[in-house]
Amino acid sequence: MQRETAFEDVVPLRPGEEEQRRALLGEMKKSIESPRIRESGTRGPCEYVTGIGLLFSAPHEVAQLRDGEEKVAERGTGDLAFALAGITGASALATVGLQSGDPNWDLNHPYVNTARDLAGTAPIIDLHMMRPRGPDICIGLGPEPALSEGLWRPLLEEAVESGLRASVNWPFGANARTVTGQLQRLGHAAVQVELSWECFDEGHPAMLRAWTTLARAATRLAVPPAAD
Ligand SMILES: [Zn+2]
Repeated sequence: MQRETAFEDVVPLRPGEEEQRRALLGEMKKSIESPRIRESGTRGPCEYVTGIGLLFSAPHEVAQLRDGEEKVAERGTGDLAFALAGITGASALATVGLQSGDPNWDLNHPYVNTARDLAGTAPIIDLHMMRPRGPDICIGLGPEPALSEGLWRPLLEEAVESGLRASVNWPFGANARTVTGQLQRLGHAAVQVELSWECFDEGHPAMLRAWTTLARAATRLAVPPAAD
């Protein structure tokens, strides 16, 4: 018995969807180029754009030092953050250059403070890359899942709609030391999104689906629900 699914087994996109999503991905890629502000933190620089409604964060865009050991960069998560901010008018933040720590591990890392300032009262979506283990997308609710309420559902719904293999809290739930965990502890609404390597591979069909999944979810999240 086949116990594991391959990406190709999963629901194909509806007719016409591929073209719409290609157009959306094209828009996203254009908005990556918007000018950014650079900040030189004591544990490594970061870049950001300011907007409203949401903050997209990519703390692992460049290599990090975790307890003295270098951890590999999650290249492309920064571009994704800025692309999502570009199409929704939100804020985005990513590490750049040489880091002497890991914002997703070090408590009170300056990156977390910058994220707080940029977000204000807006929720934070913290983006990461994971090695393929089965799911294409994993949503981590963090140590205070109540503070991810309202965020994970649109993400999960859009992932399912896109035919992605999606998981919640496995393999990554966002522990207390993660950017998501630290921000939740400070009272911010936050959720962690891990995407597999394939979701950053231009040659793999997962990329189109994953990037447009997040764009569609972000568009829903960036619009405050109408009062009735
Ligand atoms: Zn990461």
